[in-house]
Amino acid sequence: MSLCRPANSQPANSQLATGLQANSQLANASLSCVACCGILNLKLGKTEMHSLLQERTSSFQNNFPSAPHDYRIAQEKKERDIVRVDPEIYVCPFLGFSDNKAGCMLHPEKTGVKDSQNFSFYGAAICQNYECKNFNKEQELSALFLAVASDWIEFSMMAADYKFWEKIEAQFSIHTVADLQRNYKKIEKEYRERYSGNILPLTSFELY
Ligand code: SF4
Repeated sequence: MSLCRPANSQPANSQLATGLQANSQLANASLSCVACCGILNLKLGKTEMHSLLQERTSSFQNNFPSAPHDYRIAQEKKERDIVRVDPEIYVCPFLGFSDNKAGCMLHPEKTGVKDSQNFSFYGAAICQNYECKNFNKEQELSALFLAVASDWIEFSMMAADYKFWEKIEAQFSIHTVADLQRNYKKIEKEYRERYSGNILPLTSFELY
């Protein structure tokens, strides 16, 4: 949703991106958090997740502005058999790519239409105002996400995984950005141990 403010940067640590070299398109996509639009709720690997967004983007471009509702119905149908982490949580098909960055294809900045997100299940008011559990920490953490995440999927996982950040803050007594910077290497190690290249079972709304 619109809380998914993009970080306009490529992965900062090329060594950490090594595991993604097999898929250069994935590794090269600019980083942004798009977790709350539901993509992590799909039980897919990284390559499949990235390909799905590419497919959505092409289909959407064929349907907007003439038939966004038709696109939504057709895309929901295409994706309905993909297994969910939590079947109760909606996965919005309007998340795609724009300017090589994962983001909302209905965002007013993209469509030029103020309430274009009303074509979605959540609607513009929710899309533009939802605040996740890490929302207020985003400014402090985004530099670390950029340094550590290899691609937009990892960036989104790190941003959504508030339990991980609560643990890190307690473990390393992090109260300031300086504390965070001083502990980058240790945090990166913790992150590598937690993720091990896998998609975590996160959904779009990490409430508990
Ligand atoms: S319309 Fe969909 S992709 Fe766009 S912000 Fe809302 S939930 Fe996310």
